[in-house]
Amino acid sequence: MISSIKSQKLMSLIFIIFVIISFIQHYLFFTQSQSGIPIYYLYAYSGLLIINLLNLTTNNSCKNSNIFYGLRFLELHFITILIVLGPVILGIALMLTALLRGTCLNKGSRGAAVFAVLTLVNYTLSSLLGFLLGFSSISPAVYIIDTIAIILIGIFVYLTTINYESAFQHLEEAREETTKNNQLLNNTIAELSTLQEISKFANSVLNIKELINIINDMIIGVIGVNYCSIFLIEENTGNIYLETTNIQDKNLLQNIKLNLVSKYITQFKSRGLTMVEGSVNEVHDYPSAKDRDIKTFLITSLQSHRNFLGLVLVESSFDGIFEERKKNMLTTICNQVSIAIENAVIYDKMERLATIDGLTQVHNRRYFNEKCLAEFSSLSKLESVSIAMLDIDNFKKINDTYGHLIGDSVLKKVASIISSTTCASNSDDFLVARYGGEEFVVLMKNTNLSITYNILDVVRKNIESACVDDEGQKIRFTVSIGVAEYPATSKDVKQILMDADTALYKAKQTGKNKVVAADQLNQ
Ligand code: GH3
Ligand code: MG
Ligand code: MG
Repeated sequence: MISSIKSQKLMSLIFIIFVIISFIQHYLFFTQSQSGIPIYYLYAYSGLLIINLLNLTTNNSCKNSNIFYGLRFLELHFITILIVLGPVILGIALMLTALLRGTCLNKGSRGAAVFAVLTLVNYTLSSLLGFLLGFSSISPAVYIIDTIAIILIGIFVYLTTINYESAFQHLEEAREETTKNNQLLNNTIAELSTLQEISKFANSVLNIKELINIINDMIIGVIGVNYCSIFLIEENTGNIYLETTNIQDKNLLQNIKLNLVSKYITQFKSRGLTMVEGSVNEVHDYPSAKDRDIKTFLITSLQSHRNFLGLVLVESSFDGIFEERKKNMLTTICNQVSIAIENAVIYDKMERLATIDGLTQVHNRRYFNEKCLAEFSSLSKLESVSIAMLDIDNFKKINDTYGHLIGDSVLKKVASIISSTTCASNSDDFLVARYGGEEFVVLMKNTNLSITYNILDVVRKNIESACVDDEGQKIRFTVSIGVAEYPATSKDVKQILMDADTALYKAKQTGKNKVVAADQLNQ
């Protein structure tokens, strides 16, 4: 028994030989069967029948055999021709038999059936045409129909190609549009995530300096500019000051503030503007734009609840970069920053309220205790800290004589003298707090007991010479002061507070209006 591949090859060869012989016979000798069936069909069909037989003997499944499909194809074509020429019912019966016959009625057979139907249509139309035109043979009509069909197919293919071309062009345009939209979408996603970051920072960072620095960098990145500077309004004075920038030249910044910012700030305030866009060429007094290659600038206001908080100035070396999308983005960022600034201001006020004594405006006892503990916990052996306790002498009498309001004025005056006298030396090294009713405490760093003693004696003298006015009457008052020092007199925070208190007690006991140091306690 021959192998399946060998049998396929053999069958293909036989098939090809039969077809070639039938073609040669048909076209060289113009022989046609009497019924008009081209003779090569008969040869081919005979050949294919043999192939079919051989195929069956090889025990090879015919399902995937292309030769077998070819056989079905020709077989059905042949049958169709018979239908045209023979009785119609017989033809249809034959075609149906062909379609339903055998186990391998698949791709090839279906293709052949379609082709058979097309041939049937072709020959029917040709017969009709031949009859109408009075042809003796069907062949010229077949040629006419075939030619018309080919022309129609040609037109169809041409139109399809044109349609395909325009469809392809549309597709290409749609693809470009999609790419552009994708790019836009990606940009929008990036911008949204930046805004999210900013709002996260704005809500979490209460330190304005830190927040503004981060936002400044973010604006440069998101808006794509060369420089960004943020100016804020000082709450007490209303003056504008530069909070942060990436411009290095300090003189330049001063010029920008004087010329540009002050020029627009009035417009922002008076006309309620939120954004000004400008070209450097049009602004004559734009400072040092040439050196920095600046072409356009944009100023956006920072405002919250109609409070003018400051300005954001962005500068670019390109023209026309501030498209609507970027301006909207900057506005959103500025709104977020404005809210954050306002929150931070409120937080500052709250913190102040929590740490400052309302009457005397010096720190309160809670703040002092926290600072004192923190100071001592971070203290090295070489560092020194002094603590002084101050108590107003005979304060009860002042209250009783002049009333509590005058008593309050005295408290304020004393607090202010202690602060101004001690902080005049070095404010970072001094901390003044109200410790109790008419008691104050001063923490002094990096000093020794004798220097501290001298400073406190100045405080005492300043208070002694001060007065509070009560309807023309000058009310005078004095304080007693006790002071101790770490490590000279006291070994830790608990001890130093006790020693200062004991020294104060001694000052009271020995006549008041005096300073007693802890090292004098045993004298
Ligand atoms: P000494 O010289 O021994 O310190 O006598 P003193 O009268 O100052 O001492 P004392 O502790 O007897 O009196 C403290 C007074 O301070 C009692 C209280 O009414 C008054 N005081 C405490 N807090 C305030 C305040 O906030 N305002 C006013 N006006 N008086 C206050
Ligand atoms: Mg007291
Ligand atoms: Mg007192």
